[in-house]
Amino acid sequence: MTASSLRVAISGAGVAGPALAHWLLRCGHRPTLIEQAPAFRTGGYIIDFWGTGYRIAQRMGIEQAVRAAGYQVQRLESVDDEGRVQASMHTDVFERLTDGLFTSLPRGDLAATIYATVADSCETLFGDSITAIDPRHDRVDITLGNGGARSFDLVVGADGLHSNVRRLVFGPDTDFEHYLGCRVAACVVDGYRPRDELVYVTHNVPGRQAARFTLRGDRSLFLFVFRSQDTTDPGGLGARKALLRRKFADAGWECPRMLDALDDAEDLYLDVVSQVRMANWSRGCVALIGDAAACISLLGGEGTGLAMTEAYTLAGELQRAGGDYRQAFPAYEARLRSLIARKQRAAQGFIGFFAARTALGVWLRNLGIRAMNKPWLTGLIAGSVRDDFDLPDYGM
Ligand SMILES: Cc1cc2nc3c(=O)[nH]c(=O)nc-3n(C[C@H](O)[C@H](O)[C@H](O)COP(=O)(O)OP(=O)(O)OC[C@H]3O[C@@H](n4cnc5c(N)ncnc54)[C@H](O)[C@@H]3O)c2cc1C
Repeated sequence: MTASSLRVAISGAGVAGPALAHWLLRCGHRPTLIEQAPAFRTGGYIIDFWGTGYRIAQRMGIEQAVRAAGYQVQRLESVDDEGRVQASMHTDVFERLTDGLFTSLPRGDLAATIYATVADSCETLFGDSITAIDPRHDRVDITLGNGGARSFDLVVGADGLHSNVRRLVFGPDTDFEHYLGCRVAACVVDGYRPRDELVYVTHNVPGRQAARFTLRGDRSLFLFVFRSQDTTDPGGLGARKALLRRKFADAGWECPRMLDALDDAEDLYLDVVSQVRMANWSRGCVALIGDAAACISLLGGEGTGLAMTEAYTLAGELQRAGGDYRQAFPAYEARLRSLIARKQRAAQGFIGFFAARTALGVWLRNLGIRAMNKPWLTGLIAGSVRDDFDLPDYGM
């Protein structure tokens, strides 16, 4: 099948989905974004943004907007129970490793910046979700939760770690999701004190990390990571707050105060820390990108950039194949598989950084943070920071 203008249903308007829509529109295709949230969500937890994803942002023409939303973090600090700094790392190590193409910003702000490039030209169905996918010989029919039925040429799942399209077409989450033994919670609160501008402050005790980052507008981001055998969602907001209280009430430092500050929060993100590993990222005319295909987890700190890389490469290979998905989808996978596998392996090595198992592990973590200030030792993390990937030019 070749077509000059493909109708593409994209499930999920997070990072990968709008990025794919951007590149498809540039190639003259007709994407439709289907997002379960009732409206586009901004803000959320802070992400580091660099590497190939950053270079793609430059090609999309959004670098200035990304930097304007970003924070040029100066230092990462590790503090003890009393808030005394045990280890500190200047972030110029990342500046050096990424040639200055590095910033940190709320995930939702990156997503919104990408979405702004397509909002006026791409059909978006908010508050809806695909409930059935039925490939035919010349099209693919989908059913929507709100009762509609539509036909497309291709369907792409860009609906995150717990992808709906993956479940419908490839099988249950348990076939692909690899839990890494930790859970993560994140929340933005108003008016918290103290504030430390451009410093990422972390506090580790065995099996747990609490961290905070000062945001503009008198807000602060809290991040909690903890080891857990239990992966069940405790339920609503109150139950999530109660779970964090159980885990962090005795963790020292500002934890009791942070937990009190959570009482007023109306939104609290809580999820498993997992990777998605699949033998194939496409089946027939259905493909997956972003976390849906190959989540590396927050431990890798590069999921957004890789999601954008997958979106760019999928659109580029479609362009190169004249719209023939039978050529384009395998080519997309072949180009990215080894990069993603390397990133997933590297991410697993950072579990101890987020939630060291023992007191010795916490001590070693602090030693590692101090060591990163020595230019001759930064090579130790260069492999996981640098992408070692030639970004193709598809002429899009
Ligand atoms: C705490 C935390 C910290 C992180 N830190 C970093 C970092 O420092 N750097 C970095 O690059 N990455 C980081 N990541 C990872 C990064 O957030 C993800 O890799 C990235 O957001 C993946 O983009 P995506 O578009 O594939 O998925 P998502 O951003 O998750 O977007 C998926 C979208 O699909 C929608 N959706 C879900 N189900 C359905 C459905 N059934 N129908 C329709 N729509 C649906 C969702 O509402 C969402 O809008 C972090 C992740 C976490 C959790």
